[in-house]
Amino acid sequence: MEWTEERVETLKGLWKNGYTARQIAERLGGVTRNAVIGKAHRLGLSSRPQPIKREEAPIDLSKMARTCQWPIGHPGQDDFRFCGKPATPGKPYCESHCAIAYRRGSSEDSSKNVA
Ligand SMILES: [Zn+2]
Repeated sequence: MEWTEERVETLKGLWKNGYTARQIAERLGGVTRNAVIGKAHRLGLSSRPQPIKREEAPIDLSKMARTCQWPIGHPGQDDFRFCGKPATPGKPYCESHCAIAYRRGSSEDSSKNVA
Protein backbone atom coordinates (compact mmCIF):
# COMPACT_ATOMS: atom_id res chain seq x y z
CA MET A 1 0.00 0.00 0.00
CA GLU A 2 1.34 3.38 -0.92
CA TRP A 3 0.26 6.79 0.20
CA THR A 4 -0.75 8.24 -3.11
CA GLU A 5 -1.71 11.87 -3.27
CA GLU A 6 -5.34 10.90 -3.57
CA ARG A 7 -5.25 8.68 -0.50
CA VAL A 8 -3.47 11.36 1.48
CA GLU A 9 -6.17 13.85 0.52
CA THR A 10 -8.85 11.38 1.54
CA LEU A 11 -7.11 10.86 4.86
CA LYS A 12 -6.85 14.60 5.47
CA GLY A 13 -10.48 15.20 4.59
CA LEU A 14 -11.84 12.43 6.76
CA TRP A 15 -9.50 13.31 9.62
CA LYS A 16 -10.59 16.92 9.64
CA ASN A 17 -14.21 15.85 9.57
CA GLY A 18 -13.70 13.98 12.78
CA TYR A 19 -13.58 10.42 11.51
CA THR A 20 -11.66 8.03 13.71
CA ALA A 21 -8.42 6.55 12.47
CA ARG A 22 -10.18 3.21 12.30
CA GLN A 23 -12.96 4.57 10.13
CA ILE A 24 -10.43 6.22 7.87
CA ALA A 25 -8.45 2.97 7.60
CA GLU A 26 -11.62 1.12 6.64
CA ARG A 27 -12.46 3.64 3.94
CA LEU A 28 -8.99 3.67 2.48
CA GLY A 29 -8.57 -0.07 2.67
CA GLY A 30 -5.28 -1.93 2.81
CA VAL A 31 -4.02 0.16 5.65
CA THR A 32 -4.07 -0.23 9.42
CA ARG A 33 -5.42 2.24 11.91
CA ASN A 34 -1.93 2.74 13.27
CA ALA A 35 -0.65 3.56 9.80
CA VAL A 36 -3.38 6.17 9.44
CA ILE A 37 -2.42 7.73 12.77
CA GLY A 38 1.26 7.68 11.90
CA LYS A 39 0.60 9.27 8.54
CA ALA A 40 -1.64 11.92 10.05
CA HIS A 41 1.08 12.83 12.50
CA ARG A 42 3.67 13.07 9.74
CA LEU A 43 1.30 15.32 7.82
CA GLY A 44 1.10 17.55 10.86
CA LEU A 45 -2.64 17.10 11.24
CA SER A 46 -3.82 18.29 14.59
CA SER A 47 -3.97 15.51 17.11
CA ARG A 48 -7.27 14.38 18.47
CA PRO A 49 -8.13 12.38 21.54
CA GLN A 50 -7.00 8.84 20.76
CA PRO A 51 -7.08 6.04 23.30
CA ILE A 52 -4.03 4.45 21.69
CA LYS A 53 -1.52 6.92 23.06
CA ARG A 54 -1.53 5.34 26.47
CA GLU A 55 1.46 7.24 27.84
CA GLU A 56 -0.29 10.50 27.22
CA ALA A 57 -3.67 9.22 28.24
CA PRO A 58 -3.87 11.15 31.52
CA ILE A 59 -5.53 13.89 29.70
CA ASP A 60 -3.84 16.93 28.31
CA LEU A 61 -6.48 19.43 29.27
CA SER A 62 -5.05 22.26 27.24
CA LYS A 63 -5.60 20.24 24.07
CA MET A 64 -8.84 18.60 24.98
CA ALA A 65 -10.65 21.41 26.71
CA ARG A 66 -12.21 22.60 23.50
CA THR A 67 -13.77 19.31 22.44
CA CYS A 68 -16.38 17.20 24.13
CA GLN A 69 -14.81 14.50 26.27
CA TRP A 70 -17.89 12.37 26.53
CA PRO A 71 -16.71 8.77 26.07
CA ILE A 72 -18.40 6.79 23.31
CA GLY A 73 -18.05 3.02 23.21
CA HIS A 74 -16.08 0.97 25.67
CA PRO A 75 -12.62 2.00 26.94
CA GLY A 76 -9.94 -0.33 25.62
CA GLN A 77 -11.99 -1.44 22.64
CA ASP A 78 -11.27 -0.52 19.08
CA ASP A 79 -14.21 1.77 18.61
CA PHE A 80 -13.74 3.73 21.80
CA ARG A 81 -13.46 7.44 21.28
CA PHE A 82 -14.53 10.73 22.67
CA CYS A 83 -17.47 12.67 21.30
CA GLY A 84 -15.15 15.37 19.95
CA LYS A 85 -17.79 17.97 19.20
CA PRO A 86 -17.06 21.55 20.25
CA ALA A 87 -17.45 21.77 24.00
CA THR A 88 -19.64 24.27 25.74
CA PRO A 89 -17.38 27.05 27.09
CA GLY A 90 -16.29 26.21 30.63
CA LYS A 91 -17.61 22.66 30.36
CA PRO A 92 -15.90 19.45 29.31
CA TYR A 93 -18.81 18.35 27.10
CA CYS A 94 -20.78 19.56 24.12
CA GLU A 95 -24.21 20.99 24.60
CA SER A 96 -26.13 17.75 24.24
CA HIS A 97 -23.79 15.82 26.51
CA CYS A 98 -23.83 18.61 29.07
CA ALA A 99 -27.57 18.17 29.12
CA ILE A 100 -27.05 14.54 30.08
CA ALA A 101 -24.11 15.09 32.43
CA TYR A 102 -25.66 17.93 34.37
CA ARG A 103 -29.23 16.73 34.28
CA ARG A 104 -29.22 15.64 37.88
CA GLY A 105 -30.02 18.36 40.33
CA SER A 106 -31.70 20.49 37.72
CA SER A 107 -35.28 21.56 38.00
CA GLU A 108 -36.24 19.06 35.34
CA ASP A 109 -35.87 16.17 37.74
CA SER A 110 -39.27 16.53 39.21
CA SER A 111 -41.01 16.38 35.87
CA LYS A 112 -38.91 13.76 34.06
CA ASN A 113 -37.74 11.58 36.92
CA VAL A 114 -35.01 9.94 34.84
CA ALA A 115 -33.16 8.10 37.56
ZN1 LIG B 1 -20.55 15.46 23.17
